Amino acid sequence: MRAAGRSIRGGTGRPRRAVALAVAGSVLVLALVVPGRPATPAAATTARSTPISLHLVVGTAGDPVTGGYWLVAADGGVFSFGAPFEGSAGGLDLVSPAVGMAATATGSGYWLDAADGGVFAFGDAGFFGSMGGRPLASPVVGAAAAVGGYRLVAADGGVFSFGVAFAGSAVGQLQRAAAAIATDGAGYRVVSSDGSVLGYAGAVDLGGVHVPPLVGEVVAVDPGHDGGNGAAPAVIDAPIDGGGFLEPCDTVGTETAAGYPEHAFNFDVALRLAGLLTAGGAIVVLTRTSDTGIGPCVNQRAAIGNAAGADAAVSIHGDGGPTWGRGFDVIVPAPVVSSISDNRAIVQPSAELGALVRDHFAADTGEPTSDYAGSGGLDQRGDLGGLNLSTVPKVLIECANMQNPADAAAMTDPTWRQAAAQGLADGITAFLVAREVP
Ligand SMILES: [Zn+2]
Repeated sequence: MRAAGRSIRGGTGRPRRAVALAVAGSVLVLALVVPGRPATPAAATTARSTPISLHLVVGTAGDPVTGGYWLVAADGGVFSFGAPFEGSAGGLDLVSPAVGMAATATGSGYWLDAADGGVFAFGDAGFFGSMGGRPLASPVVGAAAAVGGYRLVAADGGVFSFGVAFAGSAVGQLQRAAAAIATDGAGYRVVSSDGSVLGYAGAVDLGGVHVPPLVGEVVAVDPGHDGGNGAAPAVIDAPIDGGGFLEPCDTVGTETAAGYPEHAFNFDVALRLAGLLTAGGAIVVLTRTSDTGIGPCVNQRAAIGNAAGADAAVSIHGDGGPTWGRGFDVIVPAPVVSSISDNRAIVQPSAELGALVRDHFAADTGEPTSDYAGSGGLDQRGDLGGLNLSTVPKVLIECANMQNPADAAAMTDPTWRQAAAQGLADGITAFLVAREVP
């Protein structure tokens, strides 16, 4: 084992405590910074006990000579197992976290790469440059060693080659963030987190995997009202703070002339929607899981989506409009700030979600936009606690007018309700996928 950090080259990871030292030179960086660092992360070449890292491990590299390997943690600390310890960035107080490492072919050196594009070279690993301190469109997520240098890949698929040839990047070609880059002969592969593989300069592409578009996404689905509300006025009439004003905990909802209740419609569409979203890979959080309960109150419905950290949320309703009026409209939040809430951050993304839900709901159901509420199928309101209190992008849809004979006939038809759920799923999916592209 060598003295920690002696062989570091290039202070390009922008260590916070060494800004001035980057000019003075890397030797000075080490002279000042490393001695202040405890001996950890220590080389663990004998590995009699398990070393502790207080930072998440983010990468590894194998030593082709000894058969050992290294682990790197987010703080730049390196742990050696059967491989020579050549130093670490653990004492440098990195501006951005380490995201990976790559080893030289000799087994006597390695590079650490940080999210800001900084590269730290140790042992016989040469320093050929970095993106540290330069503007990046998206963070670096991985690195790969190559003969004569190395390459970095950023989340948007951008490839940065140092000492080796550049043969293309995946910018504009990814549906999700890049996950890794690997060397293959003179070429390289970029792997996306959606499982796709892009090869450059002759790197073989033998296929990838399919990651459904909603994997990693959380959607809150809120079927309005509840089947037990009508028999529990003392509970559902109790006032709650809807964001600077009082409104009832919940309401009974409406029904068709034939007696098909809104809560049943809402719940049925919600379950159909949950099934579609789950099939797409999403985690779905329902604000109620039966149609026989009471509530929850609208503030709780918002809180459920917030607590889930939902990437999108939708409240499903049927309207009780004038009998002559038809159509659906999507209610999006107006900015409302109160002593208990501030929804301004979600106004814009909710508007985007609302527009996509409007477009897809219309296309999938053939339902016209409302001729009595909102405009063009959209309606921005600040008088609904469920939207005022949301901290996640959220919309409320009035799927159709239960008081209108034509709409009531549609809503009573399970085939139409499936189409309604599909429209919601398609709109939500479009919204989420658009945000997944780096
Ligand atoms: Zn309703």
